[in-house]
Amino acid sequence: MHADILVSTLMTINLSSTTSNAELSSVIQNMIDNRHSCMIVVENDVPIGIITERDIVRLMGLFISEKPKTMLKVSDVMSVPVSTISENTTLFEALVISSAQKIRHLPVVSPTGKLLGLVTQSDLAKAHFRIYERQRDIIEESVTERTQELLLANKQLKSLSLIDALTGLGNRRAMEVDLEHTHSQAMRYNRSYSVALYDVDEFKLYNDSYGHKKGDEALRLVSDHLIKNIRTCDRLYRYGGEEILLIMPETTLYGALILADRILASLAELSVPHEKSEHGVLTLSCGVASQIEINGYDNWEGLVDLADRGLYASKKSGRNRATIIPPEDAVDESVPRMHGNDK
Ligand code: GH3
Ligand code: MG
Ligand code: MG
Repeated sequence: MHADILVSTLMTINLSSTTSNAELSSVIQNMIDNRHSCMIVVENDVPIGIITERDIVRLMGLFISEKPKTMLKVSDVMSVPVSTISENTTLFEALVISSAQKIRHLPVVSPTGKLLGLVTQSDLAKAHFRIYERQRDIIEESVTERTQELLLANKQLKSLSLIDALTGLGNRRAMEVDLEHTHSQAMRYNRSYSVALYDVDEFKLYNDSYGHKKGDEALRLVSDHLIKNIRTCDRLYRYGGEEILLIMPETTLYGALILADRILASLAELSVPHEKSEHGVLTLSCGVASQIEINGYDNWEGLVDLADRGLYASKKSGRNRATIIPPEDAVDESVPRMHGNDK
C-alpha cells in the first residue's frame, strides 16, 4: 500500500505489433477491426516506432489534397523515435513523461529493450482517478477510525501532483523525472536537447519594494511570459524560488541562446517597474547549456550545472542577459556557480 504504483500493474499485455515494412492499409484495417488506438512497430521485439490514430488522421489530411501514388508501408508514416518506459516506472513518472511529451501511448520495455506491454494516457488517468475515489470513500465512511488510511491516501494524491501551485509550471519533482527521461532518450537515440535556467534579477529587492504579494504576481507574470514565448514541445518547471528551468528537446545551444535573448528582451520591453534594479524594470538572467555540445556528460545534472554556471556569469556581468559557458570551459571546475556544489 505504501509502495508507489508501478506501470507494470497498469499495462496491457498481449499486444499486437507490426513491422516497418508491413503494408499500411492492412495495419489500419487491423487497428479498426480490433479497436487499437495505436500499433507498435517492432524489430526483433524492440519497439522502433509507433503508429497512432493521430498519425492516421495526419495522413488522411495529406490524402485530401493528393492521393498516394504508391502503396504505403508502415515505415512511411510511423512516428520515430518512440518514447519507452520500463516496468519499474512509477505512475507519477509515467504521468510526467506523458504530459511533458504530450504522448498518449507509452510502450513498456524490458531492460534489454524488448516490448512487454503498453500503458496509455487513459490507463494513467484511471489509476489516478481510483486514488481519488478511494479517498472519497474513506471520507464517506467513518473518518475517525480511518485517519491513518486517509492520511495515506492524501499523501498518495499529493505525491502525484506535477504542478507548482503558484506559477502553474511543472514542479521540481516532475522536472527531475522529465530530465531523466529526456536525457536517457537523447543518449539512446543520439538526439540533442538544451536547458536554460532563468532567474529573476534582484527579486529580493523587488519584494522589499513592492511586498511579497506583488512579488508573487511578478513571478506569475514571468512564468506566463515564458509560456507564451516557447514552442509547444518545450517544457517549463519551477526550479526553485524565483528560478525557472526550460527543457528544449531537439534544440541546439545557439537555438536555445537565441530564444533566451528574445525572451529577455521582450520581458524588459514589458517595462514592469522595478525601481531598485539597475535596469529600472523587471528582468531575467539566464544560463544555457546543450547536451550535444558537451558530449562528456552522462547525466542531466552535469548539464543543469553548466547552465547554472552560465547563469552565475550572467549575474556577474550585469544581469538581463543570457550566457553560455564555452564547451572547453565546461570541464574547468573553478568556473563558479549559483548553487554551490550541492548537486
Ligand atoms: P539576483 O539578481 O542575484 O538573482 O538577486 P535576487 O535578489 O533575485 O536573489 P536572491 O537569491 O538573493 O533572492 C531571491 C529572492 O526571491 C528571495 C526570496 O524571498 C524571493 N522569492 C523566492 N520565492 C518566492 C516566491 O514564491 N514569492 C515571492 N514573492 N518571492 C520569492
Ligand atoms: Mg535565485
Ligand atoms: Mg534572483
